[in-house]
Parts: sequence; C-alpha cells; structure tokens
Amino acid sequence: LPLIAVCGRPNVGKSTLFNRLTGSRRSIVGDEPGITRDRIYGEIEWMGRDARIVDTGGVVPDDEALIPSEIFRQAQVALEEADAIVMVVDGRTELASPDLELSRLLLRGGKPVFLAVNKMDTDALLAGAENFRRLGFRNVMPISAEHGSGIGDLLDAVFEVLPEEQDHEPEAVMLTADNELEEDEDGPDFSPEPLQHEAGAAPVRVRRLRSHGEYDNKETKVAIIGRPNVGKSTLLNALTGTDRAIVSPIAGTTRDAVDEVVERGGHNFRFVDTAGIRRKGKTKLMAEKLSVIMARKHLEAADVSLLVIDAGEGVAAADANIGGYAHESGRSVIIVINKWDLMTKVGPDGMRLFDGKPPADQKIYEQDVRDKLKYLDYAPLLFISAADGKNIESVFKKVELVSRERRKRVTTGQMNRFLEKVDFQKASVPMNKRVRIYYMTQAAVAPPTFVLFTDKDVKLHFSFERFLGNQIRENFGFIGSPIWFKVKARN
Ligand code: GDP
Repeated sequence: LPLIAVCGRPNVGKSTLFNRLTGSRRSIVGDEPGITRDRIYGEIEWMGRDARIVDTGGVVPDDEALIPSEIFRQAQVALEEADAIVMVVDGRTELASPDLELSRLLLRGGKPVFLAVNKMDTDALLAGAENFRRLGFRNVMPISAEHGSGIGDLLDAVFEVLPEEQDHEPEAVMLTADNELEEDEDGPDFSPEPLQHEAGAAPVRVRRLRSHGEYDNKETKVAIIGRPNVGKSTLLNALTGTDRAIVSPIAGTTRDAVDEVVERGGHNFRFVDTAGIRRKGKTKLMAEKLSVIMARKHLEAADVSLLVIDAGEGVAAADANIGGYAHESGRSVIIVINKWDLMTKVGPDGMRLFDGKPPADQKIYEQDVRDKLKYLDYAPLLFISAADGKNIESVFKKVELVSRERRKRVTTGQMNRFLEKVDFQKASVPMNKRVRIYYMTQAAVAPPTFVLFTDKDVKLHFSFERFLGNQIRENFGFIGSPIWFKVKARN
C-alpha cells in the first residue's frame, strides 16, 4: 500500500488529524526499540482507495533542546518511507523555527509534499492560510482537523499523487438515488471495492486484515453542560468521587482550564474545565448567560457532552439553546435527566409526590424531552440522581459507548452496498430538490462525515439529510453522534 507520512512540530494538531483520518484503524507499532517505537501507523480509505498513513511525530520530547533532532528524525522517516508527505502547521500561531527547519528538509527531499495549515476554523482565519505560502510549498491546504473542514480537499490532493494500487478491479457501476444500477459509459474514475452481496451469493473479497486495529481508546474528553442549578457540579462530584485526579492545564497551551480525570476499567474520562462547571454568576440572568457561554467553551475542548437537565423543571428554552450548540459542534451528546428522585419520591400518602402529582413515568417523560429536543434524536437519554449517586455508572458506560461510536469508520464498499438498499422514494423531498447520488464515502470520523458524489452541486434538503442520516444510523449505529454530510458534484 502507498504510504502517507504526517509530520509537524508538537501541538500543531497532528494527532487530531491522524485520528480523524484513521478513525478506528490506528496502531502503535512497538517492535524496533528506539527507532519505530514512537511511530503510529494507521490505514485510511479514500474514494475506494487504500493507503497507509504514519504519524512520524510519535513521542514528543519534553526537552526543548531535543526538538531539532526530533524534527530531523521525522523528516528522515518521511523522506525514506513515504510516497507523499503532509506537513502540519498551526495556522493560529506564528511559524516557529522547527517549522522552518522541517519544511526546508522536506522540500529538499524530492517527494510530493503538502502543507496542511491547521486550526483554520473560521473564515477570518482561512484568509490567513495564504501567509504560509512563504514556506515555499506549492500545495497549501487550510484545514481544521478538529472540525473536519478542508480534509476532503487535502485527501483529494494527496491521493492524486499516490501511486495506483494494482489489485483493485474497477467497477463499472454507479449507484443512484433512484436505486438503479447504471453502466458508466466513460469508465469510472474511482475504484471502490467490488460490490459485495448477501452471504452465499457472489464471492466476497476478504478485506485486508487490520491487525493493529484498535483505536486509541485511552481517553475521552467530556463536557458537562447545562443551565445553572441543574446539578452539573453535583454530577461532576458523583462522577469523580473519591478517585479523582485533578489535572492542570496542558503545558504550552493558554487555556486556563482545570480538568479532572477519572480512570475506569482502563479508560480515562477527562472532565474538561471543571473550574468552569462550578463557576456561578451573580444574578440569575447572568448565571444563565454564563452557562451558555461556558457550554460553548467546554464543547470546544470535548469529544462527548453531557447535557444535564433538571427533571423537575423539564426542558426550558436555555436547555434547547445549549443543546443546539452541542448538536452543531459535532460533539456527541448524552441527555442526562438529573434529579429524577424528585419525580418518584412519594409523599406521606405513599401514592403521590410531595406536590400531589403522580410519580412520573420515564417513557412519557422521555417522549416529552425528545419532542422538545428533536434535533438530538440520536442522543442516548439517561435518568439519574446525582445527589443520591443513582445510575452514575451508566453515565460512564454511555460515554465510552458514544466515544467509540463517533470514531467508527465505514468502508466505501460497505457504504455503497448500503446505498444500494436504501429506498429513496421514502424520503419526502420536493422533486426539484432531489439529487442523484452516484456513491458515497466516509471522509472523516468524530463526527462521522460522509461525502456524497452527486449529479449537481446543491445543499442537501434538510429532510433528505435527516432521512439519509436515519438510514445510516439504522445500519451502522453511530450512537450519540451527529452525522455530517458534504456534497460534491461529479461531472
Ligand atoms: P449546577 O449549577 O448545574 O452546577 O448545579 P449544582 O450541582 O450546584 O446543583 C444545584 C442544586 O440541585 C443543589 O442544591 C443540589 O444539591 C441539587 N441537586 C443536584 N443534583 C440533584 C439530584 O439528583 N436530586 C436532587 N433532589 N437535587 C439535586
């Protein structure tokens, strides 16, 4: 398989990019002490083509003085082994001397090199990517490894220069939204795996074994978000309990956050910016505004969010507001209905609650919450009582589950077999908004992002997006995570 090397100095976002590209298919190779121990390999599939990818960054030396030799080592590995090289820089900071050093080495090496200018999350920043041209790269691609933007273009460019693999049989078949199979007259410009059919039918090509397949599931970053007084701090205390480790801000970053890390069965749960979770505003209005601002900030640093709702109060406008941010951020969401004890503890008559109402029913209650938070229909929902420590274990379990789900990767072959079975007639989309889908591929994980190759370049109709999202979920899960789509017209 062709090999892509990712290089860059510490903290520019190499690992985020690497994880996004490889999803669940990364591995740490540990056989040759001193040389390959700190190299991380993964596999990546793009438009039906496979490649291997290596993160040459590996273990970052703490010692500033060691960085130059580390940079040299990275460049050497990349130039010796790779067919294409992606150098990552941080678009939000000034270029540092290791950047200059590394780019000089790479550009002299004669291999195809691409400069990925990372952390370009906003349009304003995007414009700044041009400044990086002075490093001398011909291919300068602004990306956001965190948010997934620009990744498709980067991969398009990289795969363009990779040597073709020999063992792929191109398929002269296109999939369409009308569910017909069509002959492609001018030959395919993509080479997906041969379509596989139900077991027992046509011979099935065995996928290469992903021998080091486990993704790095060591740590999940969790944001606890919600209105004031819903019980965020109480929940944090219940989750961190006695075995808490307070972790100060990561060196070299400017965040004033304090995280707390809890280990459970080999998995680390990092609750981000716990100082912020405890911060309270002076007036009710201020506290509420602050809770929305903090939610947005916490989401930025997280993989998974716990949207805490006060059972006694139900879903208020601010809850929906905060939930909306969580949804848009691309983070996974778990809806946590807290203070459930208040809805079930009966008064002196043993029949009704203290306020005279009948105890609440979880099914009915959940339906009401779902009606008010429609866009979060993918989010698992838990009933807990943080104050009583009830159902806290299930929070850990769900976090681990959704964190795994958001990094899942579906191959182009699987995707197209699925697409073949979807009944697009069931999508209620106006005729003039319909698009024909030729094929589809998962471009990124966390959140799972799919590129649709269509006959026209249009924004997907929201009900179509919803329909397709639901179909994908039915087949592949992606529990707790939003699913993103991108459209590329193929002409
Ligand atoms: P935060 O502002 O979201 O961090 O909320 P706090 O954690 O400070 O909790 C607000 C109030 O709700 C406190 O008085 C808590 O004791 C109470 N509380 C939190 N969780 C529960 C619960 O599960 N049941 C009940 N009955 N009260 C709770």
